[in-house]
Amino acid sequence: MKDLRRWLYPLLLAVLLLPPMVQTSAQGEKQSQGALRGFQVNSQRLQQTLDKLSEFGRNPEGGVTRLGFSEADMAAREYVMGLMRQAGLAVRVDPAGNIFGRRPGTENLPVLLFGSHIDSVPHGGNFDGDVGSLGALEVMRALNEHKVATRHPLEMVVWSNEEGHHFGKGLFGSGAAAGVLGPGILERRDEQGVSLADWLRRYGQDPARFTEARIRPGSVAGYLELHIEQGAVLEETRIPIGVVQGIVGINWWTCVATGFANHAGTTPMNRRQDALAAAARAVLAVREEVRAEPSRQVGTVGYMRVEPGARNIIPGRVEFPVELRDLEAAKVERIWARIRERFATIAREENVEIECVPLAADQPARTDPVFQQAIREAAQAAGLATRDLPSGAGHDAQNASRFAPMGMIFVPSRGGISHSPREFTPPEEVANGVEVLYRSVLLLDAGLKRTEGGIAGAN
Ligand SMILES: [Zn+2]
Repeated sequence: MKDLRRWLYPLLLAVLLLPPMVQTSAQGEKQSQGALRGFQVNSQRLQQTLDKLSEFGRNPEGGVTRLGFSEADMAAREYVMGLMRQAGLAVRVDPAGNIFGRRPGTENLPVLLFGSHIDSVPHGGNFDGDVGSLGALEVMRALNEHKVATRHPLEMVVWSNEEGHHFGKGLFGSGAAAGVLGPGILERRDEQGVSLADWLRRYGQDPARFTEARIRPGSVAGYLELHIEQGAVLEETRIPIGVVQGIVGINWWTCVATGFANHAGTTPMNRRQDALAAAARAVLAVREEVRAEPSRQVGTVGYMRVEPGARNIIPGRVEFPVELRDLEAAKVERIWARIRERFATIAREENVEIECVPLAADQPARTDPVFQQAIREAAQAAGLATRDLPSGAGHDAQNASRFAPMGMIFVPSRGGISHSPREFTPPEEVANGVEVLYRSVLLLDAGLKRTEGGIAGAN
């Protein structure tokens, strides 16, 4: 980290050079709380656009159902692209449907990219994705308003179909940008029989050019994403800004306990091969082994399929999944090894077999230490406390980490509720996050240096 100290110096300088901390208000106009705190972003302007966006796909509960690749999503995208053009951005859409809006820089440097998504889950809320997308737009507007020039060109991005409810593939647009999705996915059809390729055509794109959505390594200097926490850590600790350490890896196994289905009345207790009794012990073993180490790793058994599934038959076969999530792949391996040992003991004692096969493993994505530090400095300059925490949910940022160093900013979620119409973050807390995004972008713009094959200070 010796580069970091060399890098912090220009950072401090950049903070000093930021526009004046206190703005004068126009003729008696009521200053927002943010303006009083010297905020550069305009909370009211941001809230107006967030309110308007919430009308696209609004559901009776007050949230939205705005699935990626749907009529509601298409209309919302048109609305946001209109706002982007009004902010003077050069708007383009890539062949995967990702929207980019560019603000030129003063030097010939790779792009600093920031944004999120505007699609939702069914019966979703108005903050997941929307805050980071329209927050990115507000950063652009505030930069224009304060006539701030940046060295790097800046681009905001709205990734397509992040939630992936439609077509069963989350992080779709960013996955295409990261080059992890092949064109085969375009053959998938929705419940109306419309293929993903057809939807891309409706979005004005040529599916034959899908792979051109891939972002060339080196063309992006870094990626930042502001997002709601979707958990309760920040709210419970009353900390306004989360510095995301990384996005946890998700590991799935499918396990089957095989015993012997037999008569529940005539088989004595000591002669049974009860697959469900073994599976039940396995569930508790997973919980115990995950809890056996300190820190924030989580493990879940989400369902059981019991066969034959009758009141008067000893269960002969039970299928159950194991899911483990953590920032450290090595820790997950270690815990899984202990779980396997426990399963072997249980199988022996219950006279059944337990077999597990891996189903999927998403590697954890670490945020860049230089980006973490920029977010901390930006928050401090705005008078906001920070806390480091992992993201237990997946985000487009994990795909972005495949083509650029990456950082994420969290703001609190009321009650830790998300993917629900009751999802809520108060306007002042949204503004906190957008202000930190604004300042982080400027700090990174000042601090990142282009070197052979990478960025000084970033890894
Ligand atoms: Zn999201």
